[in-house]
Amino acid sequence: MERFSEFKKNIRQQVPLAMHTWFQLGGIAELFAEPKIEEELAAILKRCRELQVPTRTLGYGSNIIVSDAGVRGMVFRLTASCFTDIRVEGNTVVAGGGAKLGRVVTTAVHAGLAGLENLIGIPGTVGGAIAVNLCTSSENLHRWVKTLRLMNPSGKVLECTNQDVSFGGNDLDLQEMILLEAVLELNEEDPAELSKRMQRNWIMRKTMFPTGQCSGYIFKNPRGGAASELIERAGLKGTRIGGAVVNERNPNFIVAEPECTSTDVLRLIDLIRNQVLDRTDTELELYIQVW
Ligand SMILES: Cc1cc2nc3c(=O)[nH]c(=O)nc-3n(C[C@H](O)[C@H](O)[C@H](O)COP(=O)(O)OP(=O)(O)OC[C@H]3O[C@@H](n4cnc5c(N)ncnc54)[C@H](O)[C@@H]3O)c2cc1C
Repeated sequence: MERFSEFKKNIRQQVPLAMHTWFQLGGIAELFAEPKIEEELAAILKRCRELQVPTRTLGYGSNIIVSDAGVRGMVFRLTASCFTDIRVEGNTVVAGGGAKLGRVVTTAVHAGLAGLENLIGIPGTVGGAIAVNLCTSSENLHRWVKTLRLMNPSGKVLECTNQDVSFGGNDLDLQEMILLEAVLELNEEDPAELSKRMQRNWIMRKTMFPTGQCSGYIFKNPRGGAASELIERAGLKGTRIGGAVVNERNPNFIVAEPECTSTDVLRLIDLIRNQVLDRTDTELELYIQVW
């Protein structure tokens, strides 16, 4: 900790990450920082780079499984108000990287700005959602991105447009960056109509997701198919390893029962992948990230 003594107010050591992830599983972070201002984030990042301390950014933890061994290095969380602010400017919503997606959606809807209402009920932050290129069957968040403010590993702030970033491609590598702020350009529409649409989406989504302690989608949908159907075809609904169980309603989710560990989940993921490959000849690719 001496290495970071001047930042010690906002850096903690050996912090359990389970409570910061949707799955509520996994080990500790060696170092955990919640900087109060951008300059502090930049200074800690710079120090990490000098000392070759690996860094990661945690959003709402809804697309991450933390291994039981935990995470080496520094984990950032953007919880200070300068990273979670949301404001409406004309037909755009300007949202901090740490802002909750649900709040961004409702802010847009109440302001009569359409585009995001289909994302209601999906847990996450703006930074996490853009980093993973959040999409649903009918919507893709990145199409609404006008500009992004990013911080690179040296602590330098960059501004870029949607075209500068290849989401999931090779241009500006978002994985290397911390997303500080996104400007989302939306379409004007009647707020009452939008509210109704958002409520319908919310009800529909609530019926799609398992209740209780669970993952998000484990696998990406393969081209032309649905991962959940392949898992079902492989006869894996309800399969269990330790406290980890393949969900009956949507087999692309894993439910964590009491006493479940990340190791149980990771072993179940391996089993699903191997059996789906054997029985359907399709290689499933992980959507959820393993830390
Ligand atoms: C019940 C449930 C339903 C879901 N439904 C969907 C769905 O329909 N569609 C879909 O696409 N996903 C879905 N997900 C997955 C998840 O909600 C989304 O991927 C979400 O956008 C992830 O955001 P997060 O803040 O939780 O990111 P995290 O899980 O915390 O992090 C994910 C990645 O983003 C990076 N990241 C986080 N914040 C930042 C930042 N500020 N700057 C740079 N990188 C950052 C992390 O380092 C990590 O690599 C679902 C998950 C759950 C639990």
